[in-house]
Amino acid sequence: MSQKHFSKNGAAMTELMKSSPKIFRPKPGELVEGTIVYKGKNKLLLDLEGVSTGIISGRELRDSFNTFKDLNIGDPAAAMVLEEENEEGLVVMSLRMASQRKAWDKFHKLIEQDATMKFIAQEANKGGLIANIDGIRAFLPVSQLAPVNYPRVNNAEAGEIINRLQKFIGHSFTVKIVTMDEEAGKIVVSERDAMSEERAKALEHLKIGDEKEGAVSGLKVRHIKTNAESVLPVKGVFVAIGHVPNSGPFARWLDVDENGYFKPLNGSQVKTKIPGVYVAGDCADHVYRQAVTAAGMGCQAAIEVERWLAEHGG
Ligand SMILES: Cc1cc2nc3c(=O)[nH]c(=O)nc-3n(C[C@H](O)[C@H](O)[C@H](O)COP(=O)(O)OP(=O)(O)OC[C@H]3O[C@@H](n4cnc5c(N)ncnc54)[C@H](O)[C@@H]3O)c2cc1C
Repeated sequence: MSQKHFSKNGAAMTELMKSSPKIFRPKPGELVEGTIVYKGKNKLLLDLEGVSTGIISGRELRDSFNTFKDLNIGDPAAAMVLEEENEEGLVVMSLRMASQRKAWDKFHKLIEQDATMKFIAQEANKGGLIANIDGIRAFLPVSQLAPVNYPRVNNAEAGEIINRLQKFIGHSFTVKIVTMDEEAGKIVVSERDAMSEERAKALEHLKIGDEKEGAVSGLKVRHIKTNAESVLPVKGVFVAIGHVPNSGPFARWLDVDENGYFKPLNGSQVKTKIPGVYVAGDCADHVYRQAVTAAGMGCQAAIEVERWLAEHGG
């Protein structure tokens, strides 16, 4: 071969290389987009940039978004490369792994943004609740439940804890990611952390005088000797607003003190200055104001009425 001939062929070769499609060699672990060219019962074939064909089959088709069901010939699809080439020269790919990659990316973003996400409990064990979030196993430990959901059980009885936790299956929690282990394929989440954040956010815009709807979920109590604070999970509270005896309608005829309580005659608990008229209960008792003391006074008053009627021919 002459030198001249060689150079001429070299230039032609360079031209050819320029016009031919670039070599496409997707590496395992890469997310690659292709176009569906075949959809079988248990198999997808993807055209990859017109130079390779990808194959997704078996369990690699099943992801938590149910992507396989919705894909049709001609649709674009992104999948993760598992093997550069199998014995048939096809790139082996996975929708399942692609969705997990997307999920991990989403979790990284949530951690970066310090944001919350939904956790729908699917299983319970004595340690906590488990959910599958976008194909990743997420664990919500008992200790990370918000105080209102914490299963308070005497003597930490394991069976009773599981019973309580099982009631949460199907329940949706707002949680934050606490730790994440991509290799082990699991994340640990916390409702406590998410709640304190949500609470802080909700309080940020709250002003005295605002009217908001809500429900009692717990009562914060303080030990008066140790100052230790804890939360009692209760669904209601009584608020003492003071005592106003409703003696007004009778105050024209009967004596009442400066606070509105009836003043019985000296030496009696129930007699008034009007013969045959007796008082009893909270309107006449500023000391005890209890059902049982009111009933006792009511009984005294009733006996007095009976006697008065007997004396006066009633
Ligand atoms: C939240 C709460 C919890 C309590 N817990 C306990 C407890 O655990 N143990 C205990 O012993 N005590 C308890 N008490 C106190 C107890 O309920 C009262 O001491 C008791 O009910 C007083 O009885 P009374 O008959 O004097 O009055 P009430 O029970 O108040 O009865 C007065 C009645 O008169 C009616 N009335 C008022 N004005 C008029 C009017 N102008 N015309 C017609 N009717 C009128 C009212 O509607 C009411 O039905 C509690 C009280 C409250 C509020």
